[in-house]
Amino acid sequence: MALDRFDVCIAGAGVIGLAVALQLSNSRRFRNKAIVVVEREAGFGQHISSRNSEVIHAGIYYAADSLKARLCVRGKRLLYEHCQRHGVGCRQLGKLIVAEKSAMDELEALLLRALGNGVDDLQWLDRRQLQQREAAVEASYALLSPSTGIIDSHAYMQSLLYLAQNNGVEFAPYTEIEAVTRASQGFIVDTRIKDANNSEAYQFGCESFVNCAGLDAGSLAAKIEGGKPQGIPKIHLCKGDYFSYSAASPFECLVYPMPEKNAQGLGIHSTLDMAGQLRFGPDSEYVGERNYDVNPLKRESFAAAIATYFPAISAEKLHPAYSGIRPKLAASGEPAADFIIKNYEEEGAPGLLQLFGIESPGLTASLAIADEVVQLLS
Ligand SMILES: Cc1cc2nc3c(=O)[nH]c(=O)nc-3n(C[C@H](O)[C@H](O)[C@H](O)COP(=O)(O)OP(=O)(O)OC[C@H]3O[C@@H](n4cnc5c(N)ncnc54)[C@H](O)[C@@H]3O)c2cc1C
Repeated sequence: MALDRFDVCIAGAGVIGLAVALQLSNSRRFRNKAIVVVEREAGFGQHISSRNSEVIHAGIYYAADSLKARLCVRGKRLLYEHCQRHGVGCRQLGKLIVAEKSAMDELEALLLRALGNGVDDLQWLDRRQLQQREAAVEASYALLSPSTGIIDSHAYMQSLLYLAQNNGVEFAPYTEIEAVTRASQGFIVDTRIKDANNSEAYQFGCESFVNCAGLDAGSLAAKIEGGKPQGIPKIHLCKGDYFSYSAASPFECLVYPMPEKNAQGLGIHSTLDMAGQLRFGPDSEYVGERNYDVNPLKRESFAAAIATYFPAISAEKLHPAYSGIRPKLAASGEPAADFIIKNYEEEGAPGLLQLFGIESPGLTASLAIADEVVQLLS
């Protein structure tokens, strides 16, 4: 019996796989092509994409000329436009990065780096200006980023899936990709369709295969024949815990300390969700396995970190909330790594595209990352 055949198979229905599905199905080249998004969970966005800060980043921190810088700045614009056009909740609250006098040079360096990345709307605030804006925040200086915001990430992913399905994209939940084999034309994909009661094998063919498996991108790559096992980067798990704050938010905008010196995270910052709930986090800790428990004993260290810019914090108002895990390409102590979005044509596997290390600002950059994939496949 002939196999079902798709033009493109997208592995993973996190925000990246869904954005790729929408942008591909909107593109001139793939508009009328058969596209399937294969997801092993019961629904979309159950891993990294639902365990993050939901911040629309401006593009301040990333190395000059990196994919992170370019795709964050472009993605931010595309994301605000998408939210407006499709009624997805977002609020451009703005953000403060605060510093004491001793870190003034580093704050200036951030301002210059942001300018180099095309973020030209940052404002320098002194203590008096900062106090006028956010009376509860204590620091000598701050950078105000007016274009930073927050987004309802679930509604965003729902809109991506809805629009992609309207374009004819098929969504296959409960379906785990177990192996991908090179064929004379494209690939044969072996999957297992599993729910609580049933488990059955299903095989199909596709011309192009896009690996958007997030934390599992490396292990999935190892199952792809022709995926160049020696070229598969190691993915290091770096956990971030969040604590919610059981009182009204004293801040109008998002407040960040200076980023961590080890480049692992942005520092324990305050963010608000769309309902106005204040939370603090994430911290950053390399871990050996996936475990999303939040250690309540971290309350005191969180309170101490937050007190450096919000002295009125009271630790008993902090409650363990949730955690997320970053798929880092840099091991602990190594300099930050860029996203990898790689086409394997030169390696003799045309039609294979893999994405590795899509940590922050992946949510912000999602539509721009997807456009990059469309270009690489065209
Ligand atoms: C703590 C934290 C905070 C963050 N904060 C922000 C932020 O504020 N702003 C921002 O822009 N970005 C942020 N990010 C980054 C952003 O969340 C990620 O870049 C983005 O969600 C990555 O999405 P993804 O689709 O690559 O991965 P995922 O959402 O994990 O999706 C991958 C999918 O692949 C599926 N899958 C895996 N293997 C298989 C298989 N074999 N077969 C079928 N399906 C498979 C998984 O089930 C999963 O659904 C943060 C990340 C973390 C961890």
